[in-house]
Amino acid sequence: MRFIGLTGGIGTGKTTVSNYLHQSYQFPVWDADIYGREAVQPGSPILGDIVEHYGQNIILPNGNLDRQQLGEIVFNNQKELHWLEQQIHPYVRHRFEENIKYFIIKNSEFNDKTFQQITSYQTTSQNSTVVLVIPLLFEAKMTDLVTETWVIYSTLQQQIERLIKRDRLTEKQAYTRINNQMSLAEKCEKADIVVDNSSTLDILLKQVDSAIAYQQNNSVSGRKKNLN
Ligand code: ATP
Repeated sequence: MRFIGLTGGIGTGKTTVSNYLHQSYQFPVWDADIYGREAVQPGSPILGDIVEHYGQNIILPNGNLDRQQLGEIVFNNQKELHWLEQQIHPYVRHRFEENIKYFIIKNSEFNDKTFQQITSYQTTSQNSTVVLVIPLLFEAKMTDLVTETWVIYSTLQQQIERLIKRDRLTEKQAYTRINNQMSLAEKCEKADIVVDNSSTLDILLKQVDSAIAYQQNNSVSGRKKNLN
């Protein structure tokens, strides 16, 4: 089974790549950001802790967490960012662990199937691969959850431009958010595979295809592959 840990910097193209892997290869995609949002749903114990820490003003009139206000606090204060991550990361890790357990059990249920069913299952669907999108894969020490790590790379200038365009951030806000994470260069150092998204979408997706094919023929563990 392959559990691909997809990471990168903010706005480098993780979602673009994971959407492609889902649409073209039908791989399930599990996204840390979705679990992170789940963690702070109204009524959740973690949201209760956040309110206790920041006060009732951190809640919008509709009962949801005011993510924008919280972002302004934590992206300007490392200590607060660390505190918040400590509340949320264990929940996110637990969700991944549960998914992995369930996925392994589901994919091991061959006992009551015919040999033909089993072989067609293995050869046609590639369904023993899952993509885990984890922006803080290295920072949150979640690499033990995956069998290979991919970093999606783009230049700092491209990150800034994409964030300004997509999220309507100011240049300063974009810089601040990018600088709060481990540097992209360090992530690339740590990755098994670096996918370069500093050019066109077409070139990006060709590299993704290469990475999938490369991995099918090689055990990536401990290797470094740059697909440029
Ligand atoms: P985040 O860290 O915020 O979740 P992300 O890493 O998932 O971001 P995407 O959402 O995939 O990044 O991409 C960021 C923005 O850049 C999107 O609007 C996307 O359409 C655009 N984008 C990504 N790759 C390219 C590319 N090669 N050329 C042009 N635009 C791109």
